[in-house]
Amino acid sequence: MPPVTAADIEAAIRNVPDFPKPGIQFKDITPVLADGRLFSGAMDLLLADVVPGSIDKIIGIDARGFIFGAAAAVKLGVGFVPVRKKGKLPWATHEQSYDLEYGSNTVAIHVDAVHPGERVLLLDDLLATGGTAAATVKLLEKLGARIVGLNFLIELKFLDGRALLSNHPVRSLVAY
Ligand code: AMP
Repeated sequence: MPPVTAADIEAAIRNVPDFPKPGIQFKDITPVLADGRLFSGAMDLLLADVVPGSIDKIIGIDARGFIFGAAAAVKLGVGFVPVRKKGKLPWATHEQSYDLEYGSNTVAIHVDAVHPGERVLLLDDLLATGGTAAATVKLLEKLGARIVGLNFLIELKFLDGRALLSNHPVRSLVAY
């Protein structure tokens, strides 16, 4: 079998119009997850730039970031830290709110999830406006983490999420 390419991943992503609301084209990654070769290949591509031994923890964002983040942590043999929506984590947390088109969201992290100076890589399925990732960066900075990079399977370039993340290296496999 030839190695999986970003074009293979792109071909498997399902575009669902008007979900979860009119005007949004949802990028459905479940066909990638359901295909063992593509899922494994996607993990290889997501971590292709990671120098062995250069990361202490993977940070995964609620909820699809948990899938890629946990797989990455196991593959690299490092810890995994979930960043969750407010009210889901049981221990003491730091919280960070950010604006949405309508209203706002809040993400949270356990106060002891990352120790000062630890090198972290943030993973999520998709970079849209960058609001979620930028709020997560603020939480990580509060804990004193060293952010090595932010890697996404998909990037919606027309939303320019990178503009909110300009202090850190951002990589994506499939861009629209
Ligand atoms: P944002 O904070 O705008 O960058 O949104 C990022 C989060 O929203 C990611 O965790 C995605 O899972 C989700 N998301 C935003 N837009 C889409 C989309 N068009 N298709 C699938 N997921 C999306």
